[in-house]
Amino acid sequence: MDRTNLYYINQGKRGKVDLCNICKQSASLSWDHVPPKGGIDLKPVEQVTILQHLTGNLEEQKPQISQNGVKYRTICKDCNERLGHSYDPVLNRFALGVGGILKSSIKILPIIHYKTQPAVLIRSILGHLLAAKGIIDDVVVDQKIREFLFDDQAQLPEDIKIFYWIYPYREIVVVRDVIMPAVRGKFDQVGFFTGILKYFPIAYLVCNLEQYEGLDELTIYRDLKIEETVEIPIHLTNIRHSTWPEMADNGNFMVGGRNLNSSVHARPRKA
Ligand SMILES: [Zn+2]
Repeated sequence: MDRTNLYYINQGKRGKVDLCNICKQSASLSWDHVPPKGGIDLKPVEQVTILQHLTGNLEEQKPQISQNGVKYRTICKDCNERLGHSYDPVLNRFALGVGGILKSSIKILPIIHYKTQPAVLIRSILGHLLAAKGIIDDVVVDQKIREFLFDDQAQLPEDIKIFYWIYPYREIVVVRDVIMPAVRGKFDQVGFFTGILKYFPIAYLVCNLEQYEGLDELTIYRDLKIEETVEIPIHLTNIRHSTWPEMADNGNFMVGGRNLNSSVHARPRKA
């Protein structure tokens, strides 16, 4: 792969009519905002591929500007609207609600509990991660998510876990399909990470591991019905570095495939 390819961002510049990443029907493709509209200020961002960001070669190729956040033209209008109507409002309320607490607290408590609908939250996160791939493929996990997503009675397969943590940063990070050590600092076992989605004020990690670095797990609520609410814990003082966990350091490496070109780091555009 030459350098140009390494830094080219693929957010779905396929034909206007192509296969939808979610329903896999041939349709007119629409733009999906990741994270979704309504939970974030849609401002101009400078985007680079995650590899470009992590290797620090920011001078070699100019960041790509998007006027209204990170987005992918990869899903059909129907899937986009179903996600937007059925699931995104819960994820957006969660992001805005927790964000409001972070911004207004004089004294930050070590832990808060925030009432939400985990089954909806799970679907919103997984749906947008499906969209966040320029190249549609048949990765097994994606197939499992497709079967689960719009079926409100469906059980999320046990090998799909979602973890979350507080993320008090303005950068948006979207990563798909990478392999990293299952335990940082131990290179004898790896995990498959279907997705990393980070944006203020919570970050999410989807993987096949039972646990990851002591993070809270969202999928322990996988058996709840779609309308059921629960107060989930958020550890406000357990703050990780903004490039955690994808950064390569003494305890970590990251390996990926073609869709690394759809994995981006975006920051607010400098005025
Ligand atoms: Zn579709």
